[in-house]
Amino acid sequence: MRLRNVKGSRETIADNAYVVHDETAFKGKWREVFGNDHELRVEIGMGKGRFILEMARLNPEVNFIGIEKYSSVLVRAIEKQEEAQLPNLKFIRMDAEYICDVFAPGEVSYIYLNFSDPWPKDRHAKRRLTSTRFLARYVDMLAEGGGVTFKTDNRELFDFSLEQIEEAGWTKEIVTFDLHNSEYAEGNVMTEYEARFSAQGNPICMVKFHP
Ligand code: SAM
Repeated sequence: MRLRNVKGSRETIADNAYVVHDETAFKGKWREVFGNDHELRVEIGMGKGRFILEMARLNPEVNFIGIEKYSSVLVRAIEKQEEAQLPNLKFIRMDAEYICDVFAPGEVSYIYLNFSDPWPKDRHAKRRLTSTRFLARYVDMLAEGGGVTFKTDNRELFDFSLEQIEEAGWTKEIVTFDLHNSEYAEGNVMTEYEARFSAQGNPICMVKFHP
């Protein structure tokens, strides 16, 4: 993703009620943040937030947390949420490397990975959010019956991810190489990148899997 430094984004985030700042303090206590015991779903690398805002709007009985590494991107999701004011949606600005410091074992019911950064160089493969290193972290966080959905238009990253899922011993429930022309298209909520790349004619790959 091309990053522009958005002036004042750090200050906007610091003051914003939808952003949880001391995220490690809530490990095992996310119910307190939302004031209910609804299930908790997390999108890692949510970008400007189109997907998670729509998911939160469609599923008011589910709590959502969007994680994004960069302030200049997160600030765009905050702008959307300030308009929508969804009570079931919060954000964290953090690097997903440290995700196990934030969620207790079994605290998260579902994880969404949408158009994750490909890190094309082999030596950076461990940074890919679908690498076995990350899958091991997700196993810790996920509740019984939980799972992960990953979408991308990057076929190399998708093939790598399928291999990693296999290597980690997870089970694939659904695999499609052309989501929008598949039986799974109905009810699909598009992300910013998905809308852009599918408009360019790129097929969208999706895998749903669980430990
Ligand atoms: N999910 C959005 C979509 O589909 O439109 C954004 C996709 S964009 C290619 C990937 C996003 O993931 C970027 O905003 C990037 O900053 C974020 N990201 C990448 N690695 C991350 C990490 N380790 N922790 C948190 N966010 C990360």
